[in-house]
Amino acid sequence: MSLSVSLQALTDYDRTRVQDALHLLLEPLGGMSSFVKSGQNVLIKPNMLAGKSPEKAVTTHPEIVRQVILMAQSAGGHISVGDSPGLGKPESVARKCGILDVIEETGVHFAPFEESVPITLETGTFHHLEVAREALEADVIINLPKLKTHQMMGYTGAVKNLFGLVVGMRKVRLHLQAGTDKAFFALMLLELAERFPPALSIMDAVTAMEGNGPGNGDPVHIGALLASTTPIALDTIATTMVNLPEQKVWTQRVARESGREGVSNNEINLQGADLSALATTNFRPAKNSDVNFGLPTPIKNLLKNAITAQPYITSECKKCGHCVTHCPPEAMTIDEHGVQIDYGRCIRCFCCQELCPHGAIITQQGALLRLAEFIQGKRDNNDKP
Ligand code: SF4
Ligand code: SF4
Repeated sequence: MSLSVSLQALTDYDRTRVQDALHLLLEPLGGMSSFVKSGQNVLIKPNMLAGKSPEKAVTTHPEIVRQVILMAQSAGGHISVGDSPGLGKPESVARKCGILDVIEETGVHFAPFEESVPITLETGTFHHLEVAREALEADVIINLPKLKTHQMMGYTGAVKNLFGLVVGMRKVRLHLQAGTDKAFFALMLLELAERFPPALSIMDAVTAMEGNGPGNGDPVHIGALLASTTPIALDTIATTMVNLPEQKVWTQRVARESGREGVSNNEINLQGADLSALATTNFRPAKNSDVNFGLPTPIKNLLKNAITAQPYITSECKKCGHCVTHCPPEAMTIDEHGVQIDYGRCIRCFCCQELCPHGAIITQQGALLRLAEFIQGKRDNNDKP
């Protein structure tokens, strides 16, 4: 089966240019009217991770959200826009990232995810999940991810953005369930994306995030918009564009290992702009957070601090305590001296780093992980012609 991904160049978030680029982007997929029919309830799900201004590239840019709302309205949909931010009250987060202004200006419904509904998955690994009521009630979900690095999963895009359908602290429980097993967590993300398949995913990769993502990385200009009906296929093209190898992107890696479609470029019918013209080799990935060496689990547990990266609290810490509240295994404590981490309990989920509003948590790699990277770097250099 050939899966379609559409790609368009877009230099900035100028309103008219965004509007034109989105129309061109959706043309090869049949336009918005192929996805939204008159009278349908449409849930638009941007990335609203935290209350940061659009320039920080943490959240989907409000101009993209505006134009998608207008297109879905023209197609006759009843529109709601919602997400469950990692940190902060949804209304305040939506205001700070500019999306609430757009919601008010276009007169659509703001739907902060607050009520969870238990669901049963008939197939797959995760039989019970709880998701936002809005996701169950929508006729159509339009997924609006932002292209960003992610310290735990390597990358966050179309598949990972749907994790926002899990409300608030229930995300923490799923992290705890997965523990240090990234493949297990990636599988949960893939199964969630399959249970709530967006009719359409449109990725904001005009300004993306590199480095210490997804909450505190650096904005980087890529200049692209991508769209697809298949989140995995969209992520395949996006990660190819920014030169992130599949081994570093857990959702892609597990999608391939589990035989899912859309992981290979040759399965994808890419339409629109030329990928090579938008591709970059300078995109800075998140730091590697572990190395496997194929060791048995008891030895890996013994060498945990040497073969993984750890969160490290810097002097930027304001002792607000948000990280402590959100740490899934309760491995963090706070007192008058600051935040302490019990690295024996820490599951390396990097939720603390993702949610720290002051960018005060960095990643420190263990000695064997650094050594492995050094050797790999030498090998890569030797492989160069
Ligand atoms: S590390 Fe960040 S989130 Fe944690 S207490 Fe310090 S400032 Fe707050
Ligand atoms: S200390 Fe940070 S990385 Fe470790 S478990 Fe807690 S939130 Fe996750």
